[in-house]
This record gives sequence, C-alpha cells and structure tokens, in this order.
Amino acid sequence: AAVIVAIDGPSGTGKSSTSKAVAAQLGLSYLDTGAQYRAITWWMVNNGIDLTDPTAIAAVAGKAEILSGTDPAAPTITVDGTDVAGPIRTGEVTSKVSAVSAVPEVRARITELQRSIAASAAADGVGMVVEGRDIGTTVLPDADLKIFLTASPEARAARRSGELKGADVKATQEALIKRDAADSSRKTSPLAKAGDAVEVDTTDLTLQQVIECVVTLVEE
Ligand code: C5P
Repeated sequence: AAVIVAIDGPSGTGKSSTSKAVAAQLGLSYLDTGAQYRAITWWMVNNGIDLTDPTAIAAVAGKAEILSGTDPAAPTITVDGTDVAGPIRTGEVTSKVSAVSAVPEVRARITELQRSIAASAAADGVGMVVEGRDIGTTVLPDADLKIFLTASPEARAARRSGELKGADVKATQEALIKRDAADSSRKTSPLAKAGDAVEVDTTDLTLQQVIECVVTLVEE
C-alpha cells in the first residue's frame, strides 16, 4: 500500500531538506505545506489585504488558486498560474505568514487542499511525504508514520543563517523564535508533536544522518 509520512517541526530543523531527500530515495511524492501558507500570504500581500485584520484575511481565504507540484526533485508552487517559488521566500512573506496561517478560514481551506493532494497520491499508489507543522496532529491524523523534528534554538538559527547567506545570526534567531511562538500559540492547529509521533532531535546530527534515520523508520 502507498505509505503516507508526516514530518512536522519548527523551522531550522532540516525539515524540508530531509523530507525531499527521503521522498526521493523512497520514490514517494512530496508536499511542502509551508509553501502553500506562504503562497496564500504572498497573494494577500500582493492584493493589499490588511494583514492585521483577521476578518479581512478570512473574507478572501478562498480566492487564490494554489497548485503544488509534488516531485521531490523539482517541487513547484503557483498562485493563479504564476510561479511564486522565489517570491514566497522573501523576508516580507516570512514575517507575515504566521498572521495569515493563524486564521481558521485559511487553515480550513489549505487543510482541505492538503488532504485531497495526499488522498490522490495514496489512490495512485505512490505515497507521499507531507511536511508541515500540524500534519500529524490535524491534517493527516491517520498517517502511516509521523516524525517530529527538533533542534536547539542555536542550531536552528545557525542553519537558517547559513541558508540566507550572510544574514545576522542573532536577528535570524529572534525572528525564528517569534515565528515559532506565534505558530505554537495560535488557537487552530498549533505547531505540536502528535502523541504517536517519533521525535528526532537533529541538533548533533548531520543532514545525512537525519535522512538515514527517517528512511530507516519508514522501512521498518
Ligand atoms: O515551513 P515554512 O517555514 O515554509 O512555513 C511557513 C509558515 O507557514 C509557518 O511559519 C507557519 O505559520 C505556516 N505553516 C502552518 N502549518 C503548516 C505549515 C506551515 O501553519 N502545516
């Protein structure tokens, strides 16, 4: 049967790199759910929506058409047909995504999208690695395997600064802590470890070690 793997955790734990590599190694599809929240946030910024007003966000939660390409070797994301893979990674979108993703109407809409994508991967017999913050707890509570990645705040900030090339480690750490706090404290589907998830602390592991660890867990 097609295996569905949920990989959750905060940013800077190597979640995306691990999820993509595991999917590629095992011949599974891959879904980056953070990219979907970033895409809807990009659309709202682009359309001048007041992101301090949850009612305004809720009113347009269903407007953008978001499509995710699920090949782990070349994942794609479009909004109304426009490739937004670059624009969704800007500092502006990163700093605003938590406010948008906290709105229940946005979560309901994106969760529905995620469930239908995972269901078609399962129906096609392919299986999928789905990475996010609430996949094991809310989106796919019946996933075959749930992983929760963690790492010390220092390790997470250092990895993110490395990715952003030359970014200030301290400022990066502060922004990261702020985003995790917002994601962990929202009322609807906060960032959390599912009771039946396997926790992997990546602080002292290389990316290759984390990938091997998860592949082993899937194959068990
Ligand atoms: O993983 P990434 O950093 O791209 O996620 C961006 C944001 O999307 C998170 O900070 C969070 O606000 C939101 N998110 C979420 N639920 C998910 C995945 C991401 O709320 N399953």
